[in-house]
Amino acid sequence: ITVAALRETAAAERRVAITPEAAKKWRGKGVRVLLEHGAGEAAGFPDASYVDVEFAAADAVLAQADLLACVLPPEDAVFGRLRDGSVVVGQLRPYGADARLAALSARKLTAFALELLPRTTRAQAMDVLSSQAAVSGYRAMLIAAEACPKFFPMLTTAAGTIRPSKVLVIGAGVAGLQAIATARRLGAQIEGYDVRPETREQVESLGAKFLDLGVSAAGSGGYARELSAEERAAQQQALADHLKPFDVVVSTAAVPGRPAPKILSQVMVEGMKPGALIVDMAAESGGNCALTRPGERVVHGGVTILGPLNLPAGAPLHASEMYARNVQHFVELLVHDDALQPDFDDELVAKSCLVRAGERIFQG
Ligand code: NAD
Repeated sequence: ITVAALRETAAAERRVAITPEAAKKWRGKGVRVLLEHGAGEAAGFPDASYVDVEFAAADAVLAQADLLACVLPPEDAVFGRLRDGSVVVGQLRPYGADARLAALSARKLTAFALELLPRTTRAQAMDVLSSQAAVSGYRAMLIAAEACPKFFPMLTTAAGTIRPSKVLVIGAGVAGLQAIATARRLGAQIEGYDVRPETREQVESLGAKFLDLGVSAAGSGGYARELSAEERAAQQQALADHLKPFDVVVSTAAVPGRPAPKILSQVMVEGMKPGALIVDMAAESGGNCALTRPGERVVHGGVTILGPLNLPAGAPLHASEMYARNVQHFVELLVHDDALQPDFDDELVAKSCLVRAGERIFQG
């Protein structure tokens, strides 16, 4: 089997789907690893850091790959340069991506979108949503600390005592909990908020206070459900009353398959103190704040709102290492008797499959 990866071409993407560590493991199993020249360079892995790996130009890589691993989808035309029957694995962003699905089908490819993996215990080692969300949460809080006009920690100096910043994290999933842990290491005073009741204990175990707004919305599969209009109004009212003391709000709230819930309205932002900062991690899927503009910095009435995009690409070395391990664990499900033979009776295989030998499976 030849497993391959290209240089990622999405804007500002620096991660790579196959790291030197992953390549070494694959080589140990007798798998051939073929990379485009410079594939890992932006992540901190120059070609020379890969041992026993072949490098070639993109066309040659695509012409020989049995399995192409990617972080984000390449241009649709890239799929047309693969051989009929090859396999593609990555975060393929399938929602609303008809052209991409058509390009995958045209070449009779079999493609798996890792973000569709059910988040069962068995899938944990392949869970790219978790591994990359942890990077995002960490990065979001560092961006907040950098942009905040105040120090995060308390400082006692000859020039007076500095009080610690007050930080609120909205949404205490994988990213939010990592954001809380990061703010805590920086010495801020933190509160965490979520609509899933079980997050109280998780927030508190990180040394933060749980902000209880009295709205509970546990959904299925460990996720939150979307709030009703009434619940949303109650949440906004309660949150508006609590926002005033915070210097920093990092929001990470999401509901699978839905646009990000709008939690912070313009009026709520106008009620925050001047100099306050919002880092809206949900910017990519519409934003948790009504004023967020994806990828931009907005200043409204003295409050700054940042909507950073592709946060995991900002810590590409570790993000790639985790991602490459996730990919490797997933690909193990596809290989039987030294050949690529996905077992479609396995729910992890079946549920992440977009296209099977050219036939479109994903309709979502
Ligand atoms: P996510 O990215 O879908 O959402 C982020 C957070 O936003 C969630 O905690 C959610 O409850 C919260 N949220 C949604 N709507 C909100 C609202 N209106 N107001 C406030 N908060 C809101 O979530 P995630 O981080 O991908 O995962 C969520 C859960 O799934 C976590 O409990 C995580 O531990 C669990 N999970 C389980 C496994 C497993 O192996 N069983 C694997 C991964 C994740």
